[in-house]
Amino acid sequence: LLSARSVRKSYGGVEVLKGVSLTVDAGQVMCLLGPSGSGKSTFLRCINHLERIDGGRISVNGELVGYVQRQDRIFEMNPREVARQRRGIGMVFQRFNLFPHMTALENITAAPIGIRKVGKQKARDRGMELLDRVGLVKLAHSYPAQMSGGQQQRVAIARALAMDPKLLLFDEPTSALDPELVGDVLDVMRTLAADGMTMVVVTHEVGFARGAADVVVFMDAGVVVEAGPPSSVLDNPQSPRTRAFLESVM
Ligand code: ATP
Ligand code: MG
Repeated sequence: LLSARSVRKSYGGVEVLKGVSLTVDAGQVMCLLGPSGSGKSTFLRCINHLERIDGGRISVNGELVGYVQRQDRIFEMNPREVARQRRGIGMVFQRFNLFPHMTALENITAAPIGIRKVGKQKARDRGMELLDRVGLVKLAHSYPAQMSGGQQQRVAIARALAMDPKLLLFDEPTSALDPELVGDVLDVMRTLAADGMTMVVVTHEVGFARGAADVVVFMDAGVVVEAGPPSSVLDNPQSPRTRAFLESVM
C-alpha cells in the first residue's frame, strides 16, 4: 500500500533523508524508531507531500504522491489533486492540534462536512460512532481544554478516521502525554491495528512496537539501518547502532 524508493530530502544543503526505501502492505503496521534528528518526522511528512522530496519516489495505493507520470516523464501534481490525495492519508501528531473552539464532535465532523460535503446528521452519527470507538462518547460536547491530553489525542485519532483514510501516520502520538495517559491511546491504536488499518507509527514505545508492529524499522542519520519483524529488530538487533539506541530507550 505504501512504497518509498530511494527517498532523498535536503534542507539547505544538508541531506536529512539519504535514500530511504520502505514498503508497507495493506493492513500492516510499521513502527519507525530512531534517535532525534534521524529524519523520522521528515519521512512521514514526505509521505503525504507536506514536504517535497528531492529524489526517489513515494507511492500510496499505487499512486505516486505529489506527482503524475505520463510516459517517461514525471510532472508535478496540481494542488487540488494533492489535496485529494492527502485526504486519503490521516496524520496524528505529537501535539493533538484540535481546534480549541470546537467540541470533540465538531472537531471530528468539520472536515467531512466542510470538505467532503457529507450531510450534517450523517457526519454526526458517524462522529458518535468514532467517539465510541475511542471510548469518548461522553465527551462529545466537551471542548479540548476540558479534556486530558490522552483524551484529546483519542479525539485527534477519531478525527483522522472520519476521513476514511487508507493509511494512518502517527508521529510520536504518546510522547507529549503523562505516563498514565499513554496506555489508553496505545489501546486505541492496537484496536485499529487489529481491525486492519494500515499504519506507520513513529514511536519510542518499544512494548507497543513489539506487540503491534508487523515491521520495525530503525533509522539513523537519514538511512534505514535495520528493518524486519519485531522479533529480529527489537530482540535480536544486528547493528550496534540499533542495539545502542534500544538500550537508551528501554
Ligand atoms: P525527533 O525524534 O527529534 O522528532 P526526527 O527523527 O523526527 O527527530 P526530523 O524532524 O525529521 O527528525 O529532522 C531531521 C533533521 O532535519 C534534523 O536535523 C532537523 O534539524 C532537520 N530539519 C527538519 N525539518 C527542517 C526544516 N523545516 N528546515 C530545516 N531543517 C529541518
Ligand atoms: Mg520527529
